[in-house]
Amino acid sequence: MSVVTRIAPSPTGPLHIGTARTALFNYLHAKKNSGKFILRIEDTDTERSSEPYAEDIEKGLNWLGLVPNEKYKQSDRKDIYSKYIQKLLDEDSIYISDEKGEGSNESVIRLRNPGENVSFNDSIRDDITFNTAELGDFVVARDKESPLYHLAVVIDDHEMGITDVIRGEDHISNTPRQILIQKALGISRPRYAHIPLILAPDRSKLSKREGDTTSIADFRERGYLPQALVSYMALLGWNPGTDQELFTLEELVSQFDIRNVQKGGAIFSKEKLDWINGKYLGSVTQNEAYEIVRQHLPADLANLPQYSEERVRSASVAILERVDVPSMLENPTSGEELTYFFDTPSYNPADLNWRDSGSLETKAHLEVLRDLISGIQGDPTADIVKKAIWNYATEKGRGTVLWPLRFALTGAERSPDPFSISAILGKEESVKRIDHAISQLENRNS
Ligand code: GLU
Repeated sequence: MSVVTRIAPSPTGPLHIGTARTALFNYLHAKKNSGKFILRIEDTDTERSSEPYAEDIEKGLNWLGLVPNEKYKQSDRKDIYSKYIQKLLDEDSIYISDEKGEGSNESVIRLRNPGENVSFNDSIRDDITFNTAELGDFVVARDKESPLYHLAVVIDDHEMGITDVIRGEDHISNTPRQILIQKALGISRPRYAHIPLILAPDRSKLSKREGDTTSIADFRERGYLPQALVSYMALLGWNPGTDQELFTLEELVSQFDIRNVQKGGAIFSKEKLDWINGKYLGSVTQNEAYEIVRQHLPADLANLPQYSEERVRSASVAILERVDVPSMLENPTSGEELTYFFDTPSYNPADLNWRDSGSLETKAHLEVLRDLISGIQGDPTADIVKKAIWNYATEKGRGTVLWPLRFALTGAERSPDPFSISAILGKEESVKRIDHAISQLENRNS
């Protein structure tokens, strides 16, 4: 029997990282076993479900690369459910019960619960036994067309040939009810794996709080990369038994084993996710970097005198290197550090000097560097700039030579290395900035 798994979200909110992680584990387990992964939108609760949420969920899963082999919506399946409900009614496994509410009489459909002990084996938690007597004759449908959650899940899992139900541990207590329904229907039982919930660092339920995000659309908006989220989500409750922290989906498929998922809660660490995202950002192409940077660059930089799309493009890899999450570029503190890409820096000339170097010495170095850089043919890459000045810097002392160069180009305490900056600015602008520094040092000396 080949493996079929499903993610069965209720569209009552945008795709949550917890649901995405459950989807990932289902996807991995299915693909690992050359099986199928199904998306089933559980929208029987018409009051709380909404179509835009269903769309957000599907879009988010596709963006993460968790593309389902088949898709279903429970609201399209009423005919199937009523066939099963009728059968169970005919067999007297369920019955219509008139309930006396306050003032109104309504009827519901209840299961005849034999009240036995129900045991099942869980791939992560081993054997679990429940006494189901206390559940009583629980309600399984509102009427012949409207199954409630437990009945719809059991019918769908059976109809769709689901072999493995992998879901959050908050569903453990639902499992005995669903098994009772399977027994009433005389259908086979899937394997169960209840995975640990994702917890906030204080071990509370991971929920949206000030400045934090839990929705995949928000992560995407902030410039997290799908590969980073996938790698990080895999590590929430599972580990490969090695130090590996960055995975492609294919690598996860080959390494994942549902039996290696831990029982205890998985603590969500934003720092770790950000670190992983930073790693992936460091490996994007220049075109990708340009697209990402354009979306997150503070708008007011466009007012700076040297701003151009071309400069943004050439600076984009260096700009991305400065953050782990692209949306960090949007806040003013890190925004300030980007101005030197688009404007001649202003600074105190004394700061051009490395440690106890004097201004005369610094000026002499800058003059040599200016000549070396202007002697390069065409617009150089960082490597070419480095080649042109490396021997000189090594001979005279790297700090004394490279600090003034970097500072002349950026006026910033911290920035990318001077070779990259020079390549980004281009030969002409680099030489201008060095000349400007030289003239400032001249004023200082006179
Ligand atoms: N629709 C349920 C939920 O959103 C999941 C049902 C299941 O996985 O069995 O939590």
